[in-house]
Formats: sequence, structure tokens, C-alpha cells
Amino acid sequence: MSNNVQSNNLPLSGVARDGWSTETEATATCFCGAVQVVVPIVAPGLVNTFVCNCFDCRKVTASMFASNFTIDNSYLKFVRGEDNLTRWGNNKTPTSRTEMTNGFCKTCGTLMYRRSEVFPNQSYMRIGTVDDFNLHETKLKPEVEIFTDNRVGWWHGVDGAKAISGALTSASK
Ligand SMILES: [Zn+2]
Ligand SMILES: [Zn+2]
Repeated sequence: MSNNVQSNNLPLSGVARDGWSTETEATATCFCGAVQVVVPIVAPGLVNTFVCNCFDCRKVTASMFASNFTIDNSYLKFVRGEDNLTRWGNNKTPTSRTEMTNGFCKTCGTLMYRRSEVFPNQSYMRIGTVDDFNLHETKLKPEVEIFTDNRVGWWHGVDGAKAISGALTSASK
């Protein structure tokens, strides 16, 4: 951690009280605090930010959409709890039929990341796990919204995001 660490003004959410952020990195922590990672919040470690409305994301979030950011795994650092993750994979994804592996905290169930066999060097992190909630409004604000055809009818999408009816492709990043 460098001198410009921001650890004040973090909201009281979950159990951990040791989240922080700098200009280039931030912690992401599960609800119970057992799993904590450091993630990049600028390129090239940060690849993109997006909301996904696909039907898998409804189930996996137990909500209507997922708020994600993609990172290069070489920038991902575990602070604690890597052995407290349960990994479960599913190869019936909506479009590609390729395997997606999900890493959940086995204590509290927070989904920390998803990984696709197509992009094994990337992780799809959850914006909501990042401890500095200011970043949800700034560097991690979703720039793209995907699977908009599957969006629930009572919600009208992400302000200012590029809307894509299907999956995120390399051309849409
Ligand atoms: Zn947990
Ligand atoms: Zn999805």
C-alpha cells in the first residue's frame, strides 16, 4: 500500500473493516470478510466494466442483473481466503456452451468472480464486492450493458452505458 491509501469513508457493509483503495488498486471483500483480494482499477489490469442481463446472471446473483468488471488475472492478489472459496462450474451458458467457473465464499456465499474457459487469463469480478463504494460510481461504473434483450421489463438500463443485445465481444470492449 502506498501513502495515498483511501481507507476512510468506506461504508459499513459486511464484516471486514480493513478495505482500502489507491489510485491503481482496491480491495474486494466477501460479505463475511473471510475472502479478500486486491484488484486493479485502471488499465491494463482492468479490462472493462459491464452490466449483464443474461439469464445465468439472474440466477447466479439471485437478482435481475450482474454488475461486473473484468481483470487480467496476473494483477489479482489474494490477501486471504483463497482456500475458503468453493468453485463450481457450469457448461450450459446462454450462448457459447462453454464452461464458466464460479468462485464463492464457502462461508457467506458471496460470488467473488466468474471465469470462462474461453478467457482463462481473466476473471469477471463483482463491482459490489469492492470495498470503496466511491469506485462503483467512478472507475468501476459500467461502461457497457450486455444482453439488453433479456433485461427485466421494469428496469431501463444503465445511464450512459453502451447497450449490446448479446454477449460482450472483443470488438465491444
Ligand atoms: Zn464470506
Ligand atoms: Zn450474464
